[in-house]
Amino acid sequence: MTASSQIAARPFANDVGDAHWLPFTAMRQFQSNPMMFVGAEGMHYTTTDGRRVLDAMAGLWCVNAGHAQPRIVEAIREAAGRLDFVSSFKMSHPGAFELAGRLTDIAPEGFDHVFFTNSGSEAVDSALKIARGYHRARGDAGRTKFIGRAKGYHGMGFGGLSVGGIGRHKRDFGPLLPDVAHLSLPYDRSSMGFSRGRPETGAHYADELESLLQIQDPSTVAAVIVEPVIGSGGVYPPPLQYLERLRSICTRHGILLIFDEVITGFGRLGTPFAAQALGVTPDIITCAKGMTNGAVPMGGVILRDFVFDAFMAGPPEVIELFHGYTYSGHPLACAAGLAALDVYQDLGLFERTSVIAPMWEAALHSLKSEPHVADIRNIGLLGVVELAPRAGEPGARGNLCAQTCYEDGVLVRASSDLIVLSPPLVIQEEQIEQTVDSIRRAIRQMN
Ligand code: PMP
Repeated sequence: MTASSQIAARPFANDVGDAHWLPFTAMRQFQSNPMMFVGAEGMHYTTTDGRRVLDAMAGLWCVNAGHAQPRIVEAIREAAGRLDFVSSFKMSHPGAFELAGRLTDIAPEGFDHVFFTNSGSEAVDSALKIARGYHRARGDAGRTKFIGRAKGYHGMGFGGLSVGGIGRHKRDFGPLLPDVAHLSLPYDRSSMGFSRGRPETGAHYADELESLLQIQDPSTVAAVIVEPVIGSGGVYPPPLQYLERLRSICTRHGILLIFDEVITGFGRLGTPFAAQALGVTPDIITCAKGMTNGAVPMGGVILRDFVFDAFMAGPPEVIELFHGYTYSGHPLACAAGLAALDVYQDLGLFERTSVIAPMWEAALHSLKSEPHVADIRNIGLLGVVELAPRAGEPGARGNLCAQTCYEDGVLVRASSDLIVLSPPLVIQEEQIEQTVDSIRRAIRQMN
């Protein structure tokens, strides 16, 4: 046993070792002050030292019905004892078809097919491949380019990374997919800062797509991919009419529009998918996270009929999709997914989100005149408080704020100087106040 594995074997010690390499984590910083949880229920985590912490992030934008939801826990238990695994290559099980059917029932009209993956990253890479395959099946194999957007986050596969718009994520790993262009962020803080919900101005940013297409040659572009609300890149709701304009430009040029709904799917905006809340219908939707309430890894690509039909009607060599994962449609994930949909429906959780969202908005914007607050953005039960960076120390204020909140019993996520919020949809009014008050105290304390 090496010295580090001896340390790792003592999970409750302050120094947890380095056997486990955490994603997106400065390991030395983590080791000196590890944030470790041993349990979770409803709105709260339990820490290794027995403290209860309010989870204002729904885990990582996923635990929409709260932690350890009893019906979901029971469904997973039951499924594990009944059918532990079945390949989805040339075989399946009833739960996978049932879940696919239930998902198409709540998806926008015309979305009648689901391809299962195990994560959001896999959903995005699958969607990009399906988009190319769709054009090829229709005899238009020259359409291979993709257009993403600045600050877009589409997961960590090479496809998602390529269409993503966060430079820091790409720096160490190039070269990425060729022939990818990006739209700019539809945001200008001087005119759109502190907008409540969707900014009223900014639709004109969509016209950039037309200019980009003229540079790229629209007949070579397979798909445009955007998050309807930019999430990990900093919670930017779309300006009014912006997505509508993207939609009509894509339609005009025969380009598929993909909405990456890994965060916005399953009720964040008060409807099953953001496409419904925002009134714009893409051609492909990617989802994950809330699909199983975070309880079992799962993602999916939901497709409009004509996309699926192009494969089915294509020449013999494209009828089969030469793509998939060992764990696509895993029985445990399907059981969790079905139970999650039941819970969302029985609690009326999506509708409740619409009711509670104005209260959320008012609470967040009450921080507007606090020190260091540079911007606040919100939509549905998503929000971000953007702090002005401390001179020469970008990210310091964000980290300090999250750390102080954590010590105060509230888990928020710091992404540089952004305090990102995405609570379980079951959050109560007093828990919204607790979250916002904790942030207020933290930012008042710091210089
Ligand atoms: N797309 C979006 C919009 C996301 O927010 C995320 C994860 N935050 C992903 C894709 C990737 O999902 P995963 O981490 O499950 O691979």
